[in-house]
Amino acid sequence: MAEPARPTRETRRLRRRAEHAFRRAELAVWQLGEPGAEVPTALRDLDEALARLDEPLRHATGLATRRTELDGALQEGAVRDRYVRDHGVDEVTRVTTSAGDRIYRIVAPTFPGHENYLYVVVTPAGALLWDVGSGPMSRPVIQRGLEVIRRVHLDPLPEADFRGVLVSHAHIDHFGDAAFFRDALHAPLMVHELDARVLTRFEERVVVTAKDLGVFLARAGIPRDRREQLEGMYLAGKDFFRSVEVDRRLRHDNMLLGRLRVIHTPGHCPGHICLRVDNALLVADQVLEPITPNLSPQSVTPFNGLENYLGGLRRLRLLEGIDHVLPAHAEPIPSLGARIDRILEHHQERLARVTDSCAVPRTVAEVADALYGAQEGYNVLLALTEAGAHVEYLHQYGRLRIANVDEVARERDPVLRYVTD
Ligand SMILES: [Zn+2]
Ligand SMILES: [Zn+2]
Repeated sequence: MAEPARPTRETRRLRRRAEHAFRRAELAVWQLGEPGAEVPTALRDLDEALARLDEPLRHATGLATRRTELDGALQEGAVRDRYVRDHGVDEVTRVTTSAGDRIYRIVAPTFPGHENYLYVVVTPAGALLWDVGSGPMSRPVIQRGLEVIRRVHLDPLPEADFRGVLVSHAHIDHFGDAAFFRDALHAPLMVHELDARVLTRFEERVVVTAKDLGVFLARAGIPRDRREQLEGMYLAGKDFFRSVEVDRRLRHDNMLLGRLRVIHTPGHCPGHICLRVDNALLVADQVLEPITPNLSPQSVTPFNGLENYLGGLRRLRLLEGIDHVLPAHAEPIPSLGARIDRILEHHQERLARVTDSCAVPRTVAEVADALYGAQEGYNVLLALTEAGAHVEYLHQYGRLRIANVDEVARERDPVLRYVTD
């Protein structure tokens, strides 16, 4: 059978637009929209957005059926309840775990063109907010999400019930609005102890990491002027966050709120954690689909790097009885084991390509070029750190060696060239 055609950028844009129109229409139907957001207008906008999609695509994606179901949901009753169960409202969906805990998802824009999936976990012992978004851009959508949980899913979710605001890891799209939600929900802010410093000493962390990044880039063979540009890019947009106190520092694999288990999975970020809730696993950025999380070398940030990341994946692979895998950037992942196997394979393939490209001595910058080709903007930095993480791993395991040791000994700021050993 022929592979389905890959969606073009334009198709993806139109589909996102249709999904956005669904959100607005649902908010109007459930009377949660902005004042003046009338149902007929919202439905007409939705139909216009759907009309721009190809007929076959409209059906293949289920959007055509969902449109009919939304008409049914205009009436109270079973049809409406079914719509909420199948599609959620404003992307706020609910998963009920084997023990009856509820996990609600909120999809919030965190940067232009970037969305985070946050979760509210409700157990008999109280509620937790898992991640907090980036700041002003995500805040109103998260607040509206809490309202949808109360008014559409009919979970009362009193503020007094919040037992914690939990940050999955110290990347700004996940923790940027920590201070706001800690205050708004009157709940302790919790983060793994290896990431706590980023929140409590943010200014220090950014300055020092930019310098460590500079050293990495110099070793990677990036000329000075280019290096300064890239360091600037790393620093850009990092001046709006102010350090915040952390109320509880989590240690790895501890229990939290009864049965909920924190699982430490460093590599993408030193204090990255997953959270097991019965037969559900909140995986944040550790397991994503179709992308894989960006890795940077341990030489830039200790506890990061490929070795740590793969170790975390292997530990998650051993978990049994996980039926719901809930990531921080996309839809639920159908099978934890299958996805982890695929990611492990992907890194093995990538390691093989790095080894091949180092048949002759190569800098990390040259390896990044061989792996990813020409990149632009922040992607230049991501390609370099990702290549650096793989080169570092192979070097640590003795599968690469330094080809220019004499030069490294002589120079003050040497470029390292790696060759297959
Ligand atoms: Zn991340
Ligand atoms: Zn993320």
